[in-house]
Amino acid sequence: MKIYNTFSKSKEEFIPTKKGEVTFYMCGPTVYDYFHIGNSRSFIMADIIRRYLEYKGFLVKFVMNLTDVDDKIIKKAIQENTSFANVSQKYINAFLEDIKKLKIKEIENLPKATDSIPEMVHLIENLIKKEIAYNVDGDIFYDVLKFKDYGKLSGKKIDELEAGSRVEIDEKKKSPLDFALWKKAKENEPFWASPWGDGRPGWHIECSAMSAKYLGLPIDIHAGGNDLIFPHHENEIAQSEAATNTKFVKYWIHFGFLNIQNEKMSKSLGNFFTAREVVVKYSAETIRMFFAQSHYSGPLNFCEDLLSAASKGLEKLTNFSDRLKTFEQNTTGIGITPEFDFKNYYSAFENAMDDDFNSPQAVAVIFDFIRDVNKVLTDVQDVSVSFLNEAKMFLERTAQNVLGIVDFSSSQKQYDDKLQNDLIELLIDFRIKAKQQKNYTLADEIRESLNKLGIVLQDQKEKTTFKIMN
Ligand code: AMP
Ligand code: ZN
Repeated sequence: MKIYNTFSKSKEEFIPTKKGEVTFYMCGPTVYDYFHIGNSRSFIMADIIRRYLEYKGFLVKFVMNLTDVDDKIIKKAIQENTSFANVSQKYINAFLEDIKKLKIKEIENLPKATDSIPEMVHLIENLIKKEIAYNVDGDIFYDVLKFKDYGKLSGKKIDELEAGSRVEIDEKKKSPLDFALWKKAKENEPFWASPWGDGRPGWHIECSAMSAKYLGLPIDIHAGGNDLIFPHHENEIAQSEAATNTKFVKYWIHFGFLNIQNEKMSKSLGNFFTAREVVVKYSAETIRMFFAQSHYSGPLNFCEDLLSAASKGLEKLTNFSDRLKTFEQNTTGIGITPEFDFKNYYSAFENAMDDDFNSPQAVAVIFDFIRDVNKVLTDVQDVSVSFLNEAKMFLERTAQNVLGIVDFSSSQKQYDDKLQNDLIELLIDFRIKAKQQKNYTLADEIRESLNKLGIVLQDQKEKTTFKIMN
């Protein structure tokens, strides 16, 4: 399996530190608002990569952090006259609801930054001891010039960075590139105690501390959107490697931006749609299909035509699964098992995903598979149950379990619910007919029998409705 490593700028063979295990750290959201569909591209592609590693048999230790203290959260708390913790908890809850709606696999490890302050303080102490960090009146800065490899991830050179005046001038800093590890407490801001006085951590130190705390170094895969390469990930390397003298990360994965009219979708530009509004209009499967049809690393334009096209593509998948179901219902039980090389399709799917998670190619393999099985179903009318099961299993393992572009369990549930409701309606009709024929004994028997099953009929003027009691 090969992964494009941002660090080496090349595709490398993937060899995790511990055989059979992968540690995977993903930079999560700053919880000051609902996340947008651009953020969800990064979350969903990370989810697909995680699921594929599991498909390959790795035990994946996946951690996504929640930045729950930050300037934007504090600003919002002041605006809303509430505490920063109230703001962050509200948007953590929203985040959990939204990732569930997007069918992102449950993440067991979602640590909040504020739960790891002692680890951050410890890291900073270490950097101060090594004279890589310095204290200016309670603010602690990282001395970038002390880390000789600074810029090795982003390929940026320190002198060029210094010359470019995009970095804010702060008189307290030795170099404009130095960044805050600890921010001295200000009025109306949350703070924690530290050896340098009250304050709060900087953003970059959070990820250095939490990744080491929950996964240990070196981490096999560290991922995030392209915007995080510099300065966030560059600074994480500088902090972690200087403090521990250990390699921080083996493989860096970065997700391309979701753009709107070729401009990055972002909160600050205001050109965004929240994930929660998009998932109402298009299903999670459609959104995932839309993302899976492009390689994770390139830019992608958000437009409704492409989402509609993704939804059309999905229809082929659901029609096919319906066709399999119909065949299953009509099988004689003595049908034949046609010659069909399922292994070929598994290999093609794996070859695609092994090549730096080429999900568009993997989607193409799934459509080839559907086309070829459809041909068989047309040629051979009575196929065996085992053939149908194998076809279904291929889709379950690839389209459902890895890409998450179809959900057989929910379509089966929808089908079951519909069937249940239709059957109840049928009994209601029979009861009406019984009453019309003055057969009140039968009418009452229907009502009572349904009652025993927890289904309560409610007679209204025009019609009878029902309620299912739990
Ligand atoms: P934030 O809450 O802004 O830190 O973003 C959370 C995650 O979403 C990070 O991994 C970002 O790099 C990623 N991200 C932000 N904007 C976009 C975008 N337009 N397209 C793809 N990923 C994004
Ligand atoms: Zn991070």
